[in-house]
Amino acid sequence: MWSVIDTFKDPQLVKHLAEQIVLVSKNMELITIMHVCGTHEHEISRYALRQLLPPQIDLIAGPGCPVCITPASMIVAANKLAMMDSKHLLVTYGDVMRIPVPGGSLSDTRSQGADIRIVYSMLDAIKLAHENPDREVIFFSVGFETTAAPVASLLLGVLPNNFSIYPCHRYVPTALQALVKEDPIMRINGFLLPGHAAIITGGKVYEFLPHEYGRASAIAGFEPSDILNGIWSIVKQIKEQKTMVDNCYKRAVRFTGNPKAQYYLNQVFKKDIAAWRGIGDLPDTGFELKSNFDHINAKKRFQIKEDNVEDVMPGCSCPQIMLGHLKPSSCPLFSISCTPITPKGPCMVSQEGTCRAHYVFKEI
Ligand code: SF4
Repeated sequence: MWSVIDTFKDPQLVKHLAEQIVLVSKNMELITIMHVCGTHEHEISRYALRQLLPPQIDLIAGPGCPVCITPASMIVAANKLAMMDSKHLLVTYGDVMRIPVPGGSLSDTRSQGADIRIVYSMLDAIKLAHENPDREVIFFSVGFETTAAPVASLLLGVLPNNFSIYPCHRYVPTALQALVKEDPIMRINGFLLPGHAAIITGGKVYEFLPHEYGRASAIAGFEPSDILNGIWSIVKQIKEQKTMVDNCYKRAVRFTGNPKAQYYLNQVFKKDIAAWRGIGDLPDTGFELKSNFDHINAKKRFQIKEDNVEDVMPGCSCPQIMLGHLKPSSCPLFSISCTPITPKGPCMVSQEGTCRAHYVFKEI
């Protein structure tokens, strides 16, 4: 049965958009477009969209996978929390379990006897806390504003006394700001902005890209025609020298975002400097719990310290891949010792990781 979503996969529409991109970019010099969303990379690789683009358009992946950018120090601290007391029950998302860090992943720690379980959402974690009143249930939550907003809304509700959270949430717009500041020579000409995250923030928060840095940008959804439409807009903006934030995902994103979600975020979190794995500390990119949530802040409740831990695993090129300096196939470990079954770096773990997407869909 033909669904509404199938409309955005329509081969004729996709072909038409690809032709328009070829047409508008004719005689233009190299155009580098970065996307910052793991789901975009997954869909671009899955539908082989790069193969529809002309050679002068280089579509690169940025730091858009939350599992990839979660600092190793926080995984090590989560391991400590799980091992600290037999009463502790650490819960997290499935992909987080397999993130490689020095000393072993959460999955390795579980095999040593710690009680670490997989949940699909914070609701599952709260349910576990109700079902285990004699345990301390600690939710290790990762993700961008898309995940942080529903987490914040639940933290404002009534929670069981044996529930706490160890959050690693990151904010995309200020991370992009840090990236473009480091790119004075315009290596990146345009940004394909993340549709999920923009549902929360809207497009207005990205206006610094055209206004301060002259970069073209478009918010895009996740179907093949959504992505090509965003790329077409970016190329047109560059050609016409009229950069803007073009909302190409109007069926989901309002330009000022979702006010309720923003309210929840502002009630619960404050922005702070935060570590991005392999990239370093970026100002105002971390969602830190406000002090009135100290009682459910696992870091404070159990006095956990995040030690300095090496973020880059031996031989792994994840930092260069997340910054778009290298493609996964340039990493000497890619598909040899590093595969989705045996990930050596975080970019090979999650469905949103660039290395994994390139491995699974045989992207060159
Ligand atoms: Fe890291 Fe593996 Fe990707 Fe190489 S292929 S950069 S080791 S995740």
